[in-house]
Amino acid sequence: MQSSLQIKDLQLYRQGELLLSLDEQIAGGEILTVMGPSGSGKSSLLNWLTGILSNGFTATGEVWLNDKNVSHLPTHLRHIGVLYQDALLFSHLSVAGNIAFAMPQDNKNSAEKLNKKQRREKIEQALEQVSLAGMGNRHPDNLSGGQQARVALLRTLLSAPKAILLDEPFSKLDTQLRVDTRQLVFEQIRTHKLPAIMVTHDYSDAEAANGKVIHLEL
Ligand code: ADP
Ligand code: MG
Repeated sequence: MQSSLQIKDLQLYRQGELLLSLDEQIAGGEILTVMGPSGSGKSSLLNWLTGILSNGFTATGEVWLNDKNVSHLPTHLRHIGVLYQDALLFSHLSVAGNIAFAMPQDNKNSAEKLNKKQRREKIEQALEQVSLAGMGNRHPDNLSGGQQARVALLRTLLSAPKAILLDEPFSKLDTQLRVDTRQLVFEQIRTHKLPAIMVTHDYSDAEAANGKVIHLEL
């Protein structure tokens, strides 16, 4: 089945006033870029998609994931992963602990049921893929910004999301690191055939995403 994320006829209101309208379909492996000035509603759009719209906002329209309407599901049942500009890692957990925290747990009904040892192996393999081999026992506070960003990426990917949202995820990284991290994130999105939405202020991000670009206005 081809995976896709659909925003069906969204009208997002702030204090009863229309903030934005959107109707988009994103296929697996595609990245939709959303640009717009601060306050134009970019984060609110992502919040609506994950089901955590703040008080003061209302919306009409539906979110569909893989031909299923998820608009009325709570956040954790939507399986939409988000990457933020801060890695937001738990400092009391190891790198592996941070990643494991988000992974699907043993679940009798799940086809992807993994025991503790299998989870550990999967994490180690994933760490290798992003040049963090053997770093599972380290603590996030001792990692560089770029390493933290890669741990955050793995945490999101290994949570088995059906779509990924990126809220200015590279904006705190220096130029070369930004380019490398971006390439890695996009590669993973394409490999896993995940539909993605990226919010950014950076035109080189938009160009690298190589997909449709939407400009929101104030
Ligand atoms: P962006 O991410 O594009 O900067 P946001 O989606 O964060 O924009 O915010 C859109 C607008 O809504 C901003 O002007 C923000 O100040 C305003 N806003 C944020 N939270 C609330 C709220 N709870 N009630 C009303 N307005 C809000
Ligand atoms: Mg924002």
